[in-house]
Amino acid sequence: MVRYDFRCENSHEFEGEFPNYDAYIKQLEQNKIRCPICNTGGVEKLLSKVNIIKGRADTTKKEEKVEPKTLGPKDYINYIKEKFIDVGEKFPEEAREMHYHRDEYREEKLKDKDGIVGACSDEEREELLEEGIKAAKIPVIKFNA
Ligand SMILES: [Zn+2]
Repeated sequence: MVRYDFRCENSHEFEGEFPNYDAYIKQLEQNKIRCPICNTGGVEKLLSKVNIIKGRADTTKKEEKVEPKTLGPKDYINYIKEKFIDVGEKFPEEAREMHYHRDEYREEKLKDKDGIVGACSDEEREELLEEGIKAAKIPVIKFNA
């Protein structure tokens, strides 16, 4: 049994329980995960350990087109998979490197990607935020799971 937290497009948060991860994916794909309060199918999965940070915010303003709220969960997941490098547990150090050496990082690691995604604890995320590194929690399924 696995449990996940969700938030619907009307900001209701709720918990979903599934027999296993595959069952969750199946329900997601079939659009069966609905908010118990307003019954919308526009729900995002909240995964507190996955974080995202953009490496190109200074030079391009294309964030607008990836406004998460206008994308369904699957679009969003695909976007993240395509445009972000998954650095896994190394997220805090990679985030710092990207923040403090933005140009080099972009040239050597990001290349055509928009940013990095990875895992860190809430404490680590707080520390990043205190340093001015805007790591955002994202509602996205774990890669390669
Ligand atoms: Zn709702």
